[in-house]
Amino acid sequence: MIASEMSPLAKTGGLADVLGALPAAINAAGHSCSVFMPGYRSAVRYAGDKLEDLNLGFPINVGDHQITARVSRYTTPAGVAVYLIDQPRLFDRDGLYGDRQGDYLDNAVRFTFFNRAVLQAIRRLNLPLDVIHCHDWQSGLIPAYLYCGMETLPNASNAAVIMTIHNLAYQGRFWVPDYPLTGLPWDLFTHLGLEFYNDISFLKSGLVYADAVTTVSPQYALEIQTPQHGCGLEGVLRNRADELTGIVNGIDTDLWNPQTDPHLKHHFDAESFAEGKAACKRELQTSMNLPVDDDKMLIGAVGRMVSQKGWDLLLQVLPQWLDDDRLQFVFLGSGDPYYEGELQRLQQSHSHRVSFTAGFNEPLAHQIEAGCDLFLMPSYYEPCGLNQLYSLRYGTLPLVHTTGGLKDTVAGFDGKNADFPATGFSFVSYNASALTDCFSSARRIFFDDRTSWQRMMKRAMQQDWSWDASAQRYIELYYQTQQAKQNASMEQ
Ligand code: ADP
Repeated sequence: MIASEMSPLAKTGGLADVLGALPAAINAAGHSCSVFMPGYRSAVRYAGDKLEDLNLGFPINVGDHQITARVSRYTTPAGVAVYLIDQPRLFDRDGLYGDRQGDYLDNAVRFTFFNRAVLQAIRRLNLPLDVIHCHDWQSGLIPAYLYCGMETLPNASNAAVIMTIHNLAYQGRFWVPDYPLTGLPWDLFTHLGLEFYNDISFLKSGLVYADAVTTVSPQYALEIQTPQHGCGLEGVLRNRADELTGIVNGIDTDLWNPQTDPHLKHHFDAESFAEGKAACKRELQTSMNLPVDDDKMLIGAVGRMVSQKGWDLLLQVLPQWLDDDRLQFVFLGSGDPYYEGELQRLQQSHSHRVSFTAGFNEPLAHQIEAGCDLFLMPSYYEPCGLNQLYSLRYGTLPLVHTTGGLKDTVAGFDGKNADFPATGFSFVSYNASALTDCFSSARRIFFDDRTSWQRMMKRAMQQDWSWDASAQRYIELYYQTQQAKQNASMEQ
């Protein structure tokens, strides 16, 4: 697998969680999966003295320049080999893709280098591969290099090449003057290849030249073929509809386990959760400087502060929701300074009812998942979403917009029948009044029908969203893609 993030080495979002768990799940099923990722500062620091220097260094052409790549290896406690492609000038930085000023200006150089260096490393390490699985735009050039024969892998010449989209909105789009950096022939720069509205798109390269394309939920696989969610690539995806599959993400049930979570002082499980969960709630209220009160409805949200996640809608409705002094809110996230500023303002004006922590804080994310009653995830679109899966497992009922993976994983309460087998609350039309109606249902059940609420909690916690089933689906897809590739080459 080739990816730009892998938990806990380097993480900005769900991609890291997937890479942190899926390779190990594939290995547990009897295969051998390793990972290539950039030697980011955070990854090198995390690996520390467990990083093995493989004494492998080689020059990579990026445009007219030669940049040296070094390869080292870290083996995770689960036994997954992670090859770090290192070049300190490109990757020894605070951020993965950018800083407060925006994206790093040399991202085309950084990721062209990464893609070519991975292929060279595979060749020089002489790794026999049956499958090359690329994740997101940061590895999107690899299918093009293999397709046009610019890079050949003697030990992997028949490997099935898979491209997974974790979020179609992030495309690795660069202006044409960067094209020569890639060294790819100009005849691939057409609307049928890497060209995207007169720019280069690394993601489109992967979508066009991979043998199969996947995304992280069946519903998102349908949505990205429409103009509403296709980000301009809907036509490309419709062309590949026969090779496009949606496989829902799983969760790492060791890391996200309310019975053993090291970030929690109190623990619980689906069979007996009342005491442990109430203790987590009190702990969270205390640490967030909110009044400690079991009777309040504690509502949380964690995530990147980008418009995708529905912060606009939340900021529209929150002032009105805050009229109800039975509610408390805990927010954690970082991103757009506008959203951060608005939440800070709400925290100042309602310090007894709103807590906002800006930044990336893994322990607090776990404590919010464990301590809250309700988890808000009103994303405009959501390829899969992991936080709602963590919420389910921690008995914190998710309130979601019915889109993408949220639609596939949360059974929304129907608004009337408390016996409906719901695991959360959902709204269909993406607007403030639909969100508020949905929230009103949740609030009513929480305060007026605690038995039904607890039944839903139990049902949510009993769901199995572990990686086992989804890893199996990937393995089946690998076999199918290999078979189809072999059949096609025999026909030629
Ligand atoms: P996305 O990949 O779009 O960011 P997901 O729900 O798939 O959304 O995954 C987000 C992951 O990142 C989850 O593990 C979530 O807990 C974590 N996360 C997001 N923001 C923060 C934050 N500010 N602090 C800690 N963890 C965060």
